[in-house]
Amino acid sequence: MRFTVAIDGPAAAGKGTIARAVAEHFGFAHLDTGLLYRAVGAKTMVGVEPIEAARTLTAEDLARDDLRSAAVAQAASWVAVIGEVRAALLDFQHAFAARMGGAVLDGRDIGTVICPDAEVKMFVTASDDVRARRRFEELSGKGADVTLDGVLQDLRERDARDRERSAAPLVAADDAVRIDTSDMTIAHAVEAVIAEIEKIRGKV
Ligand code: C5P
Repeated sequence: MRFTVAIDGPAAAGKGTIARAVAEHFGFAHLDTGLLYRAVGAKTMVGVEPIEAARTLTAEDLARDDLRSAAVAQAASWVAVIGEVRAALLDFQHAFAARMGGAVLDGRDIGTVICPDAEVKMFVTASDDVRARRRFEELSGKGADVTLDGVLQDLRERDARDRERSAAPLVAADDAVRIDTSDMTIAHAVEAVIAEIEKIRGKV
């Protein structure tokens, strides 16, 4: 059975956590597509040219343990502007989405560009302050030297770049179901997405 769930939204809105939990609930495979851009961004930080970095991405590049840092996130959002970088990552994402047994992909352009025919499309948002607080807690919990203001500024900069770029900008697909997680626990948001998927699975 092929069944694709596309979860998009701005940085730190909770989509990664939701995507992981939903995939686990249904026994679907999960791909955090932000990791692809982070891995390309990390390679450019050591001097590799962005398009070359995307075309030669390996499993080891994706397994690096520094991909979650704020510096790598910024580098990712710079390389993500480049159309050829995005093109180089297409086949991998398409193959992942088409695998048997169901797949959940989270990112910025899954419902609009990568999987426009996904059975379920969600667009997850939260206020800037809530997103900054969540990301601050995540990063400082791992011992990173960050401030709440710095994290807020980082998120806003990345969101602006993601929304304003011409290649696959961050935007909700017309047929996406929107969830604002500002006043929800992530557990509640996971329940809401699972309910949405159940509703659509019943019709497929
Ligand atoms: O989701 P995450 O914060 O890990 O993504 C890092 C960056 O990768 C984003 O700011 C965005 O620029 C880029 N990205 C993208 N398209 C995706 C996933 C991530 O452009 N599908």
